[in-house]
Amino acid sequence: MSSPLSILRQVFGYDSFRGPQAAIIDHVTGGGDALVLMPTGGGKSLCYQIPAIARQQAGLGVTLVVSPLIALMHDQVGALREAGVAAAFLNSTLDWPQTLDVERRMAEGETTLLYAAPERVVSERFLGLLDGLYAQGQLALVAIDEAHCVSQWGHDFRPEYRQLALLAQRYPGVPRIALTATADALTRADILEGLQLPSAQVFISSFDRPNIRYHVEEKKEPLAQLLRFITQEHAGEAGIVYCQSRKRVEEMAQALAQAGIAALPYHAGMPADTRQAHQDRFLREDGIVMVATIAFGMGIDKPDVRFVAHVDMPRNIEGYYQETGRAGRDGLPADAWMIYGLQDVVNQRRMIDEGDAAEAFKSILRGKLDALLALAEATDCRRQRLLAYFGEASEPCGNCDNCLQPPAVWDGTDAARKLLSTIYRVHEMSGLTFGTGHLMDIVRGNATDKVRQFGHERLSTFGLGADYNEHQLRAVLRQLLATQAVGVQRVLQGDGRAFDTLSLGASARPLLRGEVPVLLRQASAPARRARKPRRHAPAAAAAELDAGAQVRFINLKAWRAEVAREHGVPAYVVFLDTTLAAIAERNPATLADLAGIPGMGAKRLEAYGALVLQVCQERI
Ligand code: ADP
Ligand code: ZN
Repeated sequence: MSSPLSILRQVFGYDSFRGPQAAIIDHVTGGGDALVLMPTGGGKSLCYQIPAIARQQAGLGVTLVVSPLIALMHDQVGALREAGVAAAFLNSTLDWPQTLDVERRMAEGETTLLYAAPERVVSERFLGLLDGLYAQGQLALVAIDEAHCVSQWGHDFRPEYRQLALLAQRYPGVPRIALTATADALTRADILEGLQLPSAQVFISSFDRPNIRYHVEEKKEPLAQLLRFITQEHAGEAGIVYCQSRKRVEEMAQALAQAGIAALPYHAGMPADTRQAHQDRFLREDGIVMVATIAFGMGIDKPDVRFVAHVDMPRNIEGYYQETGRAGRDGLPADAWMIYGLQDVVNQRRMIDEGDAAEAFKSILRGKLDALLALAEATDCRRQRLLAYFGEASEPCGNCDNCLQPPAVWDGTDAARKLLSTIYRVHEMSGLTFGTGHLMDIVRGNATDKVRQFGHERLSTFGLGADYNEHQLRAVLRQLLATQAVGVQRVLQGDGRAFDTLSLGASARPLLRGEVPVLLRQASAPARRARKPRRHAPAAAAAELDAGAQVRFINLKAWRAEVAREHGVPAYVVFLDTTLAAIAERNPATLADLAGIPGMGAKRLEAYGALVLQVCQERI
């Protein structure tokens, strides 16, 4: 039986294990149960694929991989087959003869990894197959991917996952490995309990994604900001733009498309086949920008997503981390870019306040929103704060906006007190609450019609903040909302239209008394954004190549697209960008030159080596 390291090199073409992979693989190959918590892109798949190959070689039979999504199964099986591994899936896309064929191969020991969804795994027919394998000592391993789906508290809960516990009783002695990218302790406990893995060894990786650059800026003109970001930093690259609502998805997708960007919408309100078609194009074509609600994402394994943009604020840090985590799975530089504004904060706070959850639950939701706001308003390292939220200590990262360009801060205490006392006084005077625009008019001394209508120009705070501009006051209000010094209510106007108003919140008092300072990041004009030389990939992977290598890289990509189309798989299943860039750089003349290039395993070398050499030599 080959060692895990030689399988890694031979089959997958990688040189060394990453982080805890080696320890996990040894433990599972040796027959131990494991729970693996690893961030997206950390390399979870190899943690069961290599033990599966090793145990098959040792005569122990087939590995069952439980996977929740068909798209995910297809990609994984496609990539394994490209690497020369006997992998198959059983799902509704197969017709009856195909199903029987897969089942027969599995029963005859020809399959190394079999992928199936949980509802199929617990069906009588499938369990019968497993029983047969087990009786002959031919069930080598069970891997349960996206294991957080077992947790009722998470947002991906799948009841069928709970039934997978029966595998523990039915097949004692067969090692099981559960894997997830969800970090929190509650989910972890749920997995161990729900899948009956009491003696599993738990492997926790760092949740840092060092190749992702975090960037948050104030929302001014969302579309213009987004266009600038995409065209200046990610022209022609694949990315995801997350929006709060379906309507906004439609609008943004259309606006981007009009600006010449290959953008497609995706949300749960679209017809299922259109949605599927858009997802397929995103996975298979180069450089598509998906504009989506959070309905899009789970199981999107595309490794070369170069950016994730939030044009509306997510609900909490867990969501932000998961969504941004879809960028840069291939380890190359990627951007997590978010814009947010006062209206986001008001909207989110109101949705919580007016929802029908129990008060105790609302207060948890508020706390989570505040943690995200604190991250957005932070003037120090964003990554450090993000990791701290997940209980991980770290140093300033050097790869977030605040580290790269420390923001200037200003003391907003005085402005905060003026805003708070205005909110207090207008309510005292008229018994009413007012929206942000009106409050700012009073503080800045704008005697608008509405201000006069209510006699608010007579308030003692009228015009007291005339030297603050609107930007500054908005920034202060965001902080006040974040720290619950200000609350939001929706009120109905006479004409039936609803609007949001502000009132004093629980923690206003110490601020009003001037006991707590309010420090804010200096609102920066977009033009001041530093234009640093960025090492971006694949553009950058190619940018660092000399002219000849760039031509080879482009030709290799074109060739890869043909192969992918022929095989009906996404391009990255054939070769990763990083592998193509390395080939282009090496300018290989012989097969020996190709061996050892990361991602070029023995099977790929055999299948594609000669063609790759041809592409490199002929097409220049
Ligand atoms: P996850 O499932 O944890 O999100 P994957 O298993 O899809 O991550 O791995 C992410 C990427 O990292 C894949 O392109 C994979 O081939 C690559 N990878 C995994 N392990 C290694 C390794 N030891 N060396 C180099 N690349 C690796
Ligand atoms: Zn940082």
